Amino acid sequence: MANDYDVIVIGAGTGGYVAAIRAAQLGQKVAVVEKQKALGGTCLIWGCIPTKALLEHAHALKIVQHAKEWGLTIGDAAVAIDMTQVQNRKDRIVGSLTRGVEFLFKKNKIDWIKGTARLTGANGGPLQVDVFEGERQTLRARKEIVVATGSAARSVPGVEIDRKRIITSDEAIGLKEVPKSFAVLGCGAVGVEFASIFRRFGSDVTLFELLPRLVPVEDEAVSAELEKSYRKQGITCHTGAKVTSARASGDAVDIDAQLADGTTKRIRADYLLVATGRGPVTTGLETERAGLHIEHGYVRVDQQYRTNVPGVSAIGDVITLGQPGHPQLAHVSSMEGIIAAERIAGQEVRPLNYDHVPVCTYCDPEIGSVGLTEREAKERGYDVRVGMFPFGVLARAKISGETEGFVKIVADRKYDELLGVHMIGSRSTELVAEATVALRLESTVEELIRTIHAHPTMAEAVGEAAHAAHGAAIHL
Ligand SMILES: Cc1cc2nc3c(=O)[nH]c(=O)nc-3n(C[C@H](O)[C@H](O)[C@H](O)COP(=O)(O)OP(=O)(O)OC[C@H]3O[C@@H](n4cnc5c(N)ncnc54)[C@H](O)[C@@H]3O)c2cc1C
Repeated sequence: MANDYDVIVIGAGTGGYVAAIRAAQLGQKVAVVEKQKALGGTCLIWGCIPTKALLEHAHALKIVQHAKEWGLTIGDAAVAIDMTQVQNRKDRIVGSLTRGVEFLFKKNKIDWIKGTARLTGANGGPLQVDVFEGERQTLRARKEIVVATGSAARSVPGVEIDRKRIITSDEAIGLKEVPKSFAVLGCGAVGVEFASIFRRFGSDVTLFELLPRLVPVEDEAVSAELEKSYRKQGITCHTGAKVTSARASGDAVDIDAQLADGTTKRIRADYLLVATGRGPVTTGLETERAGLHIEHGYVRVDQQYRTNVPGVSAIGDVITLGQPGHPQLAHVSSMEGIIAAERIAGQEVRPLNYDHVPVCTYCDPEIGSVGLTEREAKERGYDVRVGMFPFGVLARAKISGETEGFVKIVADRKYDELLGVHMIGSRSTELVAEATVALRLESTVEELIRTIHAHPTMAEAVGEAAHAAHGAAIHL
C-alpha cells in the first residue's frame, strides 16, 4: 500500500528542503526522503557552514596574531589554535542548523522518510518513489517528484582519492590537527577557502591550478589581487600547473606536477586536498529505468526545472539546463526549489536569471561578485567601461585594519547599464548584496552614484567605483 503525497522530494539539501517547505507553505502534502542522519545536505553538513565556521576561527586567530597593533596583551606564550575546540564549535553550529531544518519540517507538517530512494513507476504509470534502504516503503506522488540529490567531489586522472591523505573537502573539514604541510589541487572557491584556513592555522600551503589564474571564474583583476595577497601570506601558488600524479606513502603524499614553464616539480605534503569540482549524484536512483534524460551525468531540465518525464522535476547541483556552467551554489539550489514548488502548486513562475547569481568566496581576502566580468561583457559585444576603487583609501578599512582589495564595476557605455560588480577585500561577501539588488533592478551606474552610502562603511567603495566608472572617484 503506497503512502500518498502531493509532492515527494528526494534529498534534503538546500535545494530539496527549501522546495519542501515552500510546497508545504502552499498547501501541498509533502514527504522528503533523505538518507543522511541529519537534514541540510552538503551545505549544512560538509560544505558552506563547516568551512565558514573554520574560516571564522582563522579570522579570530588573525586578530590575536596582530594583538600588539590592537593594544591587546596576551602574554609571551605563542598563540596556538586548539583544533578540538575548533571542531567542537563547528559541530555545535552544524548541529543547531540541521536541527533547525528538522524543526521547520515539523512546523510545516513535512514527513522526513529516513532512507535511500529510487524512482519507480514513471513513464506513463503512477509516479512512485521506492525507499529501498532505511525506512523501506513505497511513496506515491499525486503531483510531482522532485529530484534534489546534489553532488559529490570528483577527481582528475592520475589522482585517486583515498580519503586518508588524498582527501576531499568532506575530510578536510574534520582534520583533528593542523597539518605541517597542505597541498591543494584546484583553486576554485573550495580550494582557496581551505588554503586560507590552513595557512592561517600555520600550515605550509601549496596550490596547484591547471588554469593560468586562481579563482578562474572570477574577474581577472580579482584573481590577480588574490594571488598577490596569497604570495604575501606565504602561500605557494602554481598556476598553469598540471598535477600528473599523487601517491600516498606513509604519513604523506608525493605530488608530481608539470609547471607553467615546462619544468616538473615533486613536493611531499601531509595532505593533498582534491578540489577539482563536483559531479552529480544519481547513483541508485534508477534514472534510466524512469526514462530521465541524462546529460554528462546531470539530469536535464527546462527553465522551470521539469525533466523530460512528466511529473518529475529536478533542482540544485544535480541538474543541467543544457549549457555548461550551471552554478553549484546553495542559494541557487534554494531559489530553484522555490520556483519548482510554486510552479507545482499552480503559481505562475518566471525563469531565474543566472547572470544575476551572487558568488561569494570566503578566502582571506574575501571575494564577492555578481554579473558579467569585464571579459564576459566584451565577449557579449558590449562597449564596456569599468570603474575601480581600492578599499585601502576608506576610513572603515583603515579602522578595521583590512585595507586589501577593491571594488570593480563593469558597465555598458551606451546605456550606462550596470553589467557586473566584482570585489575582493574584507566584507565583500556582504557588500555584494547591494550589487545584486542593483543588477536585479537593472540599475544604471548613475543610480549607484546617486545612492547614498553610509559613512564610514566598506560599502562606500561601491559608490566610489561607480564614480570612477563615470570618470573620477571622489576620494582618489
Ligand atoms: C566545501 C564546500 C563549501 C561550499 N561552500 C558554499 C558556499 O559558501 N556557498 C554556497 O552557496 N555554496 C557552497 N557550496 C555548494 C553547496 O553546498 C551546494 O551547491 C548545495 O549544497 C547544493 O544543494 P543540493 O540541494 O542541490 O544538494 P546537496 O546539498 O548535495 O543535497 C543532496 C542531498 O540528497 C541526499 N541524497 C542523495 N541521493 C539520495 C537518495 N537516492 N535518496 C535519499 N537521499 C539522497 C544526500 O544525502 C544529500 O543530503 C559548498 C560546497 C562545498 C563542498
